Amino acid sequence: MRSHLLNDTTAEHYRRSVTEGVERVAAKLASTQRPFTGVTPDRLAPVVAAVDLDTPLADASAALDELEEVYLRDAVYFHSPRYLAHLNCPVVIPAVLGEAVLSAVNSSLDTWDQSAGGTLIERKLIDWTCARAGLGPAADGVFTSGGTQSNLQALLLARQEAKTTDLSKLRIFASECSHFSVQKSATLLGLGPEAVVSVPVDRTKRMQTVALEAELMGCVSEGLVPMAIVATAGTTDFGSIDPLPEIAALARQYETWMHVDAAYGCGLLVSPTRRGLLDGIERADSVTVDFHKSFFQPVSSSALLVRDAATLRHATYHAEYLNPRRTLEEKIPNQVDKSLQTTRRFDALKLWMTLRVMGAEGIGGLFDEVCDLAAAGWELLAADPRYDVVVQPQLSTLVYRYIPESVTSPVLIDQANLHARKALFASGEAVVAGTKVAGRQYLKFTLLNPETTTGDIAAVLDLIAGHAEQFLGENLVHAS
Ligand SMILES: *Cc1c(COP(=O)(O)O)cnc(C)c1O
Repeated sequence: MRSHLLNDTTAEHYRRSVTEGVERVAAKLASTQRPFTGVTPDRLAPVVAAVDLDTPLADASAALDELEEVYLRDAVYFHSPRYLAHLNCPVVIPAVLGEAVLSAVNSSLDTWDQSAGGTLIERKLIDWTCARAGLGPAADGVFTSGGTQSNLQALLLARQEAKTTDLSKLRIFASECSHFSVQKSATLLGLGPEAVVSVPVDRTKRMQTVALEAELMGCVSEGLVPMAIVATAGTTDFGSIDPLPEIAALARQYETWMHVDAAYGCGLLVSPTRRGLLDGIERADSVTVDFHKSFFQPVSSSALLVRDAATLRHATYHAEYLNPRRTLEEKIPNQVDKSLQTTRRFDALKLWMTLRVMGAEGIGGLFDEVCDLAAAGWELLAADPRYDVVVQPQLSTLVYRYIPESVTSPVLIDQANLHARKALFASGEAVVAGTKVAGRQYLKFTLLNPETTTGDIAAVLDLIAGHAEQFLGENLVHAS
């Protein structure tokens, strides 16, 4: 069994084993045209259930053979140009290379004495990202597991900086299109169910700052305390970017924390043509960035950035065995002092390798391509009488629904759209997402693959229309 330990004597075994895995995946990617096989949980669950975990196989090759059956064959493949559903990107090769290196060396980024150079690399990438956002000389931050954790930490800092310790008085303002992790964070932070004030959006799905101002005024006049305003820079559904400069002005006027949730829109930080969409982000107190959404990085790779490094002390706790107080005076760079996590992956290495091989503009150019694709997709949808499209995209999502001319029942139209999404998924030919707008069922493309073409979009729209028509055909006949 010792031959399975990765060390100085097993280099050859390591090389062979990992190479075989890489070759299997490479072959899989080369031969997989569809994003999905359409497998159902009912069909796949018995295959997984039949594996006896107490009886190992002969070797890694056998385990890879089995993996084909239980995972690889039926996985959902984001590299497919017809995977158009959620905020999952195809990944770039330098980042995958970084992933292979970081898990083999297995640094843990909590303390200097578990990572050494990894700590400095992470810090440099944080500084680089803060500079791109324009957060100023005192900025800092830390890598996190994802936008959800980044938002939680941002709101923790905001709560600790708030002007009252009476949690029942604190209010967070976020648009009705903000991410649900804001609500989840509020609960985790001990705030009441009323704590998150939902601010309405305008027709382009951006926060209405007039309404925000009214809410802030009302809050203060009731003796409550604004704890934070969360501006979403790229809403998950619409990619809409809240008006950051106006929100920054209100945050200053009401002396409250401004958090920018740029989990999705952070790709604009490196965009050669669209950086202006993030103007105002430099005035934020904290920013969430998800490199695993718009920087083409494998899950997970995310960070929380703050304007004032000192605010990260709210996440600082000392353990004698790990990061005793004296390490502060000794200026030992222990990232755990800034993090909600303890043991933590060296995810930063993936972004490092990406920037060293492709450069920032290389990544930004790819993100620009998918934003251009969304603009072209919007033109297609807007010109297509079969479809209703909600907003012209600022980033790379499209929310739309199939609207048959002959059918007036809103319930039936909802059902037809839902059916089309499910039937498409079951066919494996393409994967799209769904969402609701004003209570009605819509469909969504999240475009993050520069290999997707307008031809793909047109083809998928035809597939959806076909499924919806078939459903209506069956159900209208039935009804009459
Ligand atoms: C995806 C997303 C999040 C959550 O990020 P995870 O990495 O999935 O935890 C938060 N905010 C917005 C706007 C998002 O799109």
